[in-house]
Amino acid sequence: MFFTRFRTPGRVALGLPGLPSLCALCRSWGGQRVCADCLRCWAPAVTRCVRCAIEVPAATRLCGACLLQPPPYTRAVAGLDYAPPWSGLIARFKFNSALDLMPSLTIQLLAAIRASDAPLPSLALPVPLSDERLRERGFNQAWEIARHLAAALGCACDPRLLLRIADTPHQLGLPPDARAANVRGAFAVEPLRLAVLRGKPVALVDDVMTSGATAAEIARTLLHAGASEVQLWVLARTPRPDR
Ligand SMILES: [Zn+2]
Ligand SMILES: [Zn+2]
Repeated sequence: MFFTRFRTPGRVALGLPGLPSLCALCRSWGGQRVCADCLRCWAPAVTRCVRCAIEVPAATRLCGACLLQPPPYTRAVAGLDYAPPWSGLIARFKFNSALDLMPSLTIQLLAAIRASDAPLPSLALPVPLSDERLRERGFNQAWEIARHLAAALGCACDPRLLLRIADTPHQLGLPPDARAANVRGAFAVEPLRLAVLRGKPVALVDDVMTSGATAAEIARTLLHAGASEVQLWVLARTPRPDR
């Protein structure tokens, strides 16, 4: 049985709630790896496009790009902008195995998911890493985020339903117009477990969303395999270049 259903919300194995912790940004002592003052200062509330999570003017629901060409995922929720200081903390979490930072990095995302007017998907699926990258890194950051969110929200989480069937060059090293082609055909749903997905709304979980090409490719794969709807949950969204 590959499902992991977390029934007790709010508690994670990482970090020790209640014990003092040094803020990773201002070095003050508090109860979280990022203190409340730094969260207020560096992660102010912004209005985001409901389809792609890019910042939009207040009271705006969709950005121009999503009005012209809606992505295959019906909603994208991001907690932070992928910019300093968050980009530095996400890099430490991802490349230096700083797993203790992850609960603090998800605070804004959890709040945004809870504030959303969309029904909660029944299943959270992490974007899978290639075997080679998993060996290099030692863990899949998307799985760590997904299981933390699932525990807090009380939904199911499954790390083996979505498969990466081709290793592809990192998207960040490619021009934007080459990213969709780079990931085309790179993902599949475990063929023996299609029934788990059929008719279900799911949330795809990743650390960072830049062009959305990877998320779009996976969303198409999941919808083709029978998912009823795909949402995207990401820690951070790359802001518009003019910001
Ligand atoms: Zn602080
Ligand atoms: Zn948009």
